[in-house]
Amino acid sequence: MRKILIHLRTSVKFLFLIVLSAIMIVSLVAFAYKPIYSVTFNGELIGYCEDKVEMQKKINEFIENGESENVAFVQIDELPEYELCLLKKGIVTNDEEILAKVKETGTEYYHYYAITVDNKEKYYVSSFSEAEDVVKKLKDKKSDNIDKIRVVEKYEKKLATFTDTDKIVKKLYVKPEVKQTVTYASTHYQATGTMSISRGANNTKKKVDIGISLINPLSGVISSEFGGRWGTIHKGLDIAAPAGTKIKAAAAGTVKFSGWNSGGYGNLVIISHGNGVETYYAHCSAVDVKAGQKVSQGQVVSRVGNTGDSYGNHCHFEVRVNGVAQNPRNYVY
Ligand SMILES: [Zn+2]
Repeated sequence: MRKILIHLRTSVKFLFLIVLSAIMIVSLVAFAYKPIYSVTFNGELIGYCEDKVEMQKKINEFIENGESENVAFVQIDELPEYELCLLKKGIVTNDEEILAKVKETGTEYYHYYAITVDNKEKYYVSSFSEAEDVVKKLKDKKSDNIDKIRVVEKYEKKLATFTDTDKIVKKLYVKPEVKQTVTYASTHYQATGTMSISRGANNTKKKVDIGISLINPLSGVISSEFGGRWGTIHKGLDIAAPAGTKIKAAAAGTVKFSGWNSGGYGNLVIISHGNGVETYYAHCSAVDVKAGQKVSQGQVVSRVGNTGDSYGNHCHFEVRVNGVAQNPRNYVY
């Protein structure tokens, strides 16, 4: 009995020693080695970083906001690739350098607004509210050229020089002729955006096969393109047309939603076409269909309006495939 007890004691001791040494070995390894990621960018090894999540977060932040004011987003051709490697302590990580290299290749796109007269860009302002302010002031002063003044949304690689709104009003103001009695319509301006970005292949009207063919929901002027490779900028195509213009279903389907959307879409119609394809028609003045209703291609579903976060009468048209907004230019117009 005593013998067994001693035997048991030694084996417990032995076990304890094994566990202890195992812990020591593991902590030694952990001390000597730590997980480090090698970072490859555009096919070239550019360094090592410890925390790839943090690194990617920083890169994403840069892509979404850039570094200076008025940057809409930054376009980067390729994202870095990370590969886990167990390296001996002593290898230097160079997060800042990596970040700098990635930033170097990015193209910043600035977002601002142009005030145009007769479609000629005259002055630039930083925000839509400033542009609106200029138009409002000119309207209040009954400036004679108010019908020729437009606000154009700009996405450009270079930032324009901004002018103070009061100065713009002063420069653009044209005294109205006294005898004339003019009735001013409620909206004298509408965005007729030019956006020269990320069109590339889309420009060639290449149609992408999504299993159904879409038709143009209405004819009008494209006032703002689908924009931003990283999906955060503009999820649809803006088609400017007079208020009340009929908007047609781009394809047959079932109405998934019809009514007010408080998220900025205003009056919105969503049609489900099967194959994971959905189309959105937003900022409508009125809707003509109900959720659950079947619609045929070309059937009028709503009317052009200026509801929700909108800057003039237009239809914001989205094509979503499995929930992801696609460039409508790939299918229509
Ligand atoms: Zn839009």
